[in-house]
Amino acid sequence: MDRGLHFMFCVVTTVLLLRESSQTGAMRNDDAMIKANGLRGPEENLPVLTVTTILEDPYAMVRSAELEGYCIDLLKALASMLHFSYKVKVVGDGKYGAISSNGNWTGMIGEILRQEADIAVAPLTVTSAREEVVSFTTPFLQTGIGILLRKDTISQDMSFFHFLAPFSKETWTGLLFAYVLTCICLFLVARLSPCEWNEPKNEENHFTFLNSLWFGAGALTLQGATPRPKAFSVRVIAAIWWLFTIALLAAYIANFTALLSSGSEQLTIQTFEDLVKQRKIEFGTLDGSSTFYFFKNSKNPIHRMIFEYMDKRRDHVLVKTYQEAVQRVMESNYAFIGESISQDLAAARHCNLIRAPEVIGDRGYGIATAQASQWTEKLSVAVLKLRESGDLDYLRNKWWESSCLHSRERWSPLQPQALGGLFLTLAVGLALGVIAAMVELSNKSRHAAGHVKKSCCSIFTEEMCTRLRIKENTRQSQETSGRANA
Ligand code: GLU
Repeated sequence: MDRGLHFMFCVVTTVLLLRESSQTGAMRNDDAMIKANGLRGPEENLPVLTVTTILEDPYAMVRSAELEGYCIDLLKALASMLHFSYKVKVVGDGKYGAISSNGNWTGMIGEILRQEADIAVAPLTVTSAREEVVSFTTPFLQTGIGILLRKDTISQDMSFFHFLAPFSKETWTGLLFAYVLTCICLFLVARLSPCEWNEPKNEENHFTFLNSLWFGAGALTLQGATPRPKAFSVRVIAAIWWLFTIALLAAYIANFTALLSSGSEQLTIQTFEDLVKQRKIEFGTLDGSSTFYFFKNSKNPIHRMIFEYMDKRRDHVLVKTYQEAVQRVMESNYAFIGESISQDLAAARHCNLIRAPEVIGDRGYGIATAQASQWTEKLSVAVLKLRESGDLDYLRNKWWESSCLHSRERWSPLQPQALGGLFLTLAVGLALGVIAAMVELSNKSRHAAGHVKKSCCSIFTEEMCTRLRIKENTRQSQETSGRANA
C-alpha cells in the first residue's frame, strides 16, 4: 500500500501552486499572508522549488488525492513569506537518508545530493553525518528518542500487597507517625485532665497507653472502641482523630477504586535499561533512521547493548516505515524505539499504546537544502519568524492530538502533600486538646490552692507530677539511692 503510494507520487508529481494551496485554507492566516505579501502565481516568475518529503503522520498524508499535514502547512507558510512556488514529491525510496554500503546516500538526503529536489521539508533529523553533505535550517520541531510500547505487554501483575498502593511510602509513614503521636497525646491528656481522671491516688485511669492505642486503631477502622472519653480536652483529641480518619479513609477508598478501575499498571519498562534487560519483548528502530545511527555511534554501555541486539537481528527487528512500526507494536510483543514526538501522536491515537517515560538524545527536525544553497539562510530566518509569531505552536496544536480520547487519568499513589491540610488540622487539634487539658488542670489547681492556702503554681506542678508519676518515680529513686548509700 505504502509502496504503491510512493510509486504513484513519484510518477505523478503533485504540483501544488501557492494560489491553489491557499484555497485549502490549511493555515489560519494563509490567505491573509498571501494577500499581504502581494504574492503572484508562477506565471509571474516566482522561483519554483522541488520539495521532497516523506509520507508520515501527521507531517505529510494523502487526503483525497492531495497532500496535507504539518510539513505541507509549514511549506505553504514559508513559500508565502519567501515568495516561491513549489512542487512536492514524495521521496522515491521512502527513506529519510542514510549512507548505503556503496557510499551513496539514500532517501531525501540522496535526492538533494543528486539534485532531484531542492529542499526536503519533512521530519528529517539534523545529524552530524547529514550536516556534512547537506545544509540544515534552524530546527522547526524538537524531539528526543523514546520507547513506544503496548500497555498490556508491560503491565505488572497485581502484587500481593496491592492494597498498600493507594498511598505512597511517605504517606504511610506520615500516617503511622500521626497515629502514634495522637495516641501519646490521648494518653497524656487523659492523665492530665482532672475531668477525665479526678482522683489520681485512688481512681483507675482507663486511658492506659495500650488502651489509647486501641482507641486510635478502633477509630481508624470506624469501630467505636472503648474507653469513652469524658473530659472536653480528651474529646477534642478524639473528635479531631475521628475527623482525620474519616477523611483519610475516603481518600484511601477513592484512590484504591481509581487504581482498580483504571487498570493502572506499574510499567515494567520505564527506561532503555529496563528494555535491554528483558527478553520478553523484541525491540527495534526504523531501518537507516537517525535513531538507529544514534545507538550505533553512542558510547553509553546501555545504548551499545541496544545497538548490538538490533544489529544481530537486523532483518527481524528493524522496520521499514513508521506505520509498520506502530502496527507491529499493536499486534505483537514489540517495542519501537523512535522519536518521541511521533510516538506521542501514536499513543494519543491508539489508547492501548504508551510511551515509556525515559527520553534520550535531544534532536531537532530541520529543512535540508543543498550545501551553499541560497535558500538555507532565508529558510532559517523564516522558520525563526514563524516560531516567534507562534505559528509553529499553532501548527503543532493543529496536527497533534493532545491525549488519548478514551484514556483515563493516569493513576498515581497519594503523596503526603495531597493530605497536607489534613495532617495540619490533626496537629492543631492535638495542640488544642493539650492546651484544654492544661486549662482544666490549672482550674482545678486554682480551686485547690484556695482551700489549702498554697500557691496555685506549686499545686499545679504537684498535680502534674502525680499525674505523670514523676513524683513517685523521683521519690522511689531517692529512696533507692539513700538505701544504697547506707
Ligand atoms: N526522523 C528520523 C530521521 O530523520 C527518522 C525517525 C526515527 O528515527 O525514528 O532519520
